[in-house]
Amino acid sequence: MKDTLPLLDQFNRPFRDLRISVTDRCNFRCTYCMPAELFGEHYHFLPKHDLLSFEEITRLARVFIGLGAVKLRLTGGEPLVRQEIEILVAQLAALDGVENIAMTTNGFLLPQKAQALKEAGLHRVTVSLDSLDDTVFRRMNGGRSGVQEVLDGIAAAKQAGFAPIKINAVVQRGVNDHTVVDLARYCKDQGYILRFIEYMDVGTLNGWRLDDVVSAAEIAEMINAKMPLELIERNYFGEVALRYRYQDGGGEIGLIASVTKPFCGSCTRLRLSPEGQIYTCLFGVEGIDLRGPLRAGASDEEIAEIVRGVWSRRTDRYSEIRTEQTGVAAPKVEMFHIGG
Ligand code: SAM
Ligand code: SF4
Ligand code: SF4
Repeated sequence: MKDTLPLLDQFNRPFRDLRISVTDRCNFRCTYCMPAELFGEHYHFLPKHDLLSFEEITRLARVFIGLGAVKLRLTGGEPLVRQEIEILVAQLAALDGVENIAMTTNGFLLPQKAQALKEAGLHRVTVSLDSLDDTVFRRMNGGRSGVQEVLDGIAAAKQAGFAPIKINAVVQRGVNDHTVVDLARYCKDQGYILRFIEYMDVGTLNGWRLDDVVSAAEIAEMINAKMPLELIERNYFGEVALRYRYQDGGGEIGLIASVTKPFCGSCTRLRLSPEGQIYTCLFGVEGIDLRGPLRAGASDEEIAEIVRGVWSRRTDRYSEIRTEQTGVAAPKVEMFHIGG
């Protein structure tokens, strides 16, 4: 049963998007997310019994949909390293009221998984690819993959019928900023919707410095100088990307200015961690546990009541405050834990 009134937080932001992180593990070691020197063989990832089962995730998703979620996104860690993730997709796709189920993936396992995901009912795929330069890309992912493996994954998604495919690229100054125009040209030619993401101070482990951020404005200017752009309207309230169209009609591109132009005012996202905690902000310090009540036999209505309470007290606007103060990093949850 859907609540008839939208669930609003302290700034009147409705709850609409649910991001489900299905695992804290990953087959890559991106330097800005899970640096290899910190996430080596001795790192303790969550043991299996701590993870929500597919049935638990699906049950929570049903409760979230009742509270207003219309979009679900599976993320991680790397969602495709969770065994048989397509079974979860099929369970979620069968829920009443889901308009859109998407996945963000590094693409490495898509050649094995794309077809099964499509058949299970996944609507959209976003693949992260930071550069087409093999040396740069390998350096950024901790040497776990070349560019070709990810391109093969994207091709597999296309072959399985996913369209349009979105590509995410994080830009770091002095690391891959000299390769953004090449990536933009490639995606334009292929018909992929590319979204550049400003490097964020998520977590506490990536050694973030404001100087390493290449602003969305700078990125737009670099591309505009070679392939003229014009700004277009957002698709809907809560869309995070600033959208541009190529003036020659060759498709569009998005810029996610999370650092220089934060969008907290329209942030409608709730994040569910692999072990069943909810976070109302990407920069949350502590989650609220739902797995405990769930495993202790709470009813759907009791769980819904916890979520209503959390969302209605929500005052998060971390990025806006960071911009106001050019803030110093505070303790917060890691990105690979709640999935971006
Ligand atoms: N493993 C999957 C992937 O990489 O697509 C899903 C999880 S990953 C945490 C989700 C997205 O967050 C990716 O597009 C990744 O590039 C982005 N991301 C990770 N750390 C980031 C950071 N510090 N700043 C900006 N984006 C980041
Ligand atoms: Fe893994 Fe994605 Fe983080 Fe890279 S960004 S380490 S692929 S979770
Ligand atoms: Fe939403 Fe928090 Fe990001 Fe602001 S900082 S847009 S509230 S997740």
